[in-house]
Amino acid sequence: MGLAGFAEARAFAVPMRTRFRGVTVREGLLVRGAAGWGEFSPFAEYGPRECARWWAACVEAAQEGWPDPVRASVPVNVTVPAVGPEEAARIVAEGGCATAKVKVAERGQDPAEDIARVEAVRAAIGPAGRVRVDANGAWDVDTAVRMVRALDRFGLEYVEQPCATLEELARVRRRVEVPVAADESVRRAEDPLRVRAAGAADIVVLKVQPLGGVRAALRVAEACGLPVVVSSAVETSVGLAAGVALAAALPELPYACGLATARLLAGDVCADPLMPVAGELPVRRPEVEEGRLAAVEADAGPWLARAEAARRAGESAGEAAGEAAGEAAGEQGR
Ligand SMILES: [Mg+2]
Repeated sequence: MGLAGFAEARAFAVPMRTRFRGVTVREGLLVRGAAGWGEFSPFAEYGPRECARWWAACVEAAQEGWPDPVRASVPVNVTVPAVGPEEAARIVAEGGCATAKVKVAERGQDPAEDIARVEAVRAAIGPAGRVRVDANGAWDVDTAVRMVRALDRFGLEYVEQPCATLEELARVRRRVEVPVAADESVRRAEDPLRVRAAGAADIVVLKVQPLGGVRAALRVAEACGLPVVVSSAVETSVGLAAGVALAAALPELPYACGLATARLLAGDVCADPLMPVAGELPVRRPEVEEGRLAAVEADAGPWLARAEAARRAGESAGEAAGEAAGEAAGEQGR
């Protein structure tokens, strides 16, 4: 069974090296079209309407390709999970990146552990390196303000999603000097505009698949007007290449991107995965290698059904938007 308009459609299931979002195996569909391979890998809990944008991103990659890059490589950050200080220092040293993102506010840990981890990361990366922290929305406003001030002793580039809601982010932002980035608050195309209107962040984290493709994400970035950090949804190198294409096409790229995630997967579908070299990812599209894909191949049946449902949801959303626009135009004409 295949998908209309594509030469191949193959499902994959790649184990994660460490659990992420409660996920231990990263799964998805790869389709090959006239422009190359595209990845469709929405998380399991997403329904067809949510998946429509992920599918649109896959179709863009496979059938259309991406806009021309304005840079040849993209700086990326090393990510430090909520580990002890020695392990954190080792990860930074091995990562070879000039920017580190440190996970903080881990459930079950206390503030002293965050402080020790960030201190160790600053020591390991040196005074010229950049250190950002990511709380994944876990702090309340007062805790966020207290912790950001405490951690800024080591010099913070920004704090990512210190609290869960836009209103809380805005309150934190008014009380600390450190810039605030919105990540979980941005899930759809209209969210960055809401972030900006709420005064909730100085920076937005954008991901290609949830926004419906590289072109859609570029439009969102332009409309929002805030600096962008491009991040992955922990894809294979096929999906990561779309993130790199977005980062490469943005007119300005003041921050390192969260695209050095290939190592989080225990395997890849490309012979030459998108791994950083000296803290940068070269702007390129790695080739899928049959042997590697075959080694992680899964039953495509459920994924073809999911892609078809996403395609239909996207079509009816498009028709609804088209009808609404048509009606509005008709009214104006009257
Ligand atoms: Mg984040």
